Amino acid sequence: MYIGRFAPSPTGSLHIGSLLTALASYADAKSQQGKWLVRIEDIDPPREVKGAADEILHTLESFGFEWDDGVIYQSRRQHLYRDALNELMAQNLAYPCFCSRKDWHNAAKIGVDGFVYNGHCRPSLMSTHKIKSTHKQAAWRIIVPNENITFNDAIIGLYTQNLAHDIGDFVLLRADGYWAYQLAVVVDDAEQGITHIVRGQDLLVSTPRQIYLQRCLKQKTPHYAHLPLLVNQHGQKWSKQTLAPKLNLTQCEQILRQVMHYLNIPNAPSVNRPQDLLTWTIQHWQLNHLPTHSINTEKETK
Ligand SMILES: [Zn+2]
Repeated sequence: MYIGRFAPSPTGSLHIGSLLTALASYADAKSQQGKWLVRIEDIDPPREVKGAADEILHTLESFGFEWDDGVIYQSRRQHLYRDALNELMAQNLAYPCFCSRKDWHNAAKIGVDGFVYNGHCRPSLMSTHKIKSTHKQAAWRIIVPNENITFNDAIIGLYTQNLAHDIGDFVLLRADGYWAYQLAVVVDDAEQGITHIVRGQDLLVSTPRQIYLQRCLKQKTPHYAHLPLLVNQHGQKWSKQTLAPKLNLTQCEQILRQVMHYLNIPNAPSVNRPQDLLTWTIQHWQLNHLPTHSINTEKETK
């Protein structure tokens, strides 16, 4: 049984890049008679926009998407993340970190996804000041191994990282009390029985961390397919930060056709409703026909 998912963060409206991810994950699931679940990743309140979650669901409906089962909200599942952290603590894999951002950034080198934590608070190095610092809110980090983690992505092929060199011990629970994305995603993917993850290549760099967490928590690793990103004329991924235009819901068909074109789906005949374009995409879906690299939407659009 195939179970896939689309997992937007309610930090703004859906844009053309998130629509591409929605369509690709939907078509991959439905072309294999799978389920397609929607999960709202609302665990970072400082970055969220009020009303965005409802707007995202409304936008998906306007484009003809239908999700299976109820929508999951990460903000209501904190107890599951707490259980996972407790399990990692019981294995002596998690430890509190009292470093200020400024302190450890000054001592760090740059890895593949920002600064590599230098392990300052790792238990073996901590000796006596462990208890002394509890007046300060701690972040919780996981000890990562000095070994290569490799997986075979369905779109880009083999991808390898050494977490110790490339990432460092990473955060599970932030010092401000919010759960880290990496932990929440892994817990939810396992709890929802997700078998296939189709998402943007901006998350490729996170995948070895997630695979490592899956191994620590004795979960199965799903199949991964990381989609090409839609970028602007400067090569930047379309996002809220790069001012991606909001999707115009009076032009659903036209926008869907554009996204289908990016995904190398053959031209569809004229249709009565957006759902018919989703059906066409499912019928013509082939992961190995997708482009592998970023797509410049400003070059492509006439
Ligand atoms: Zn520290």
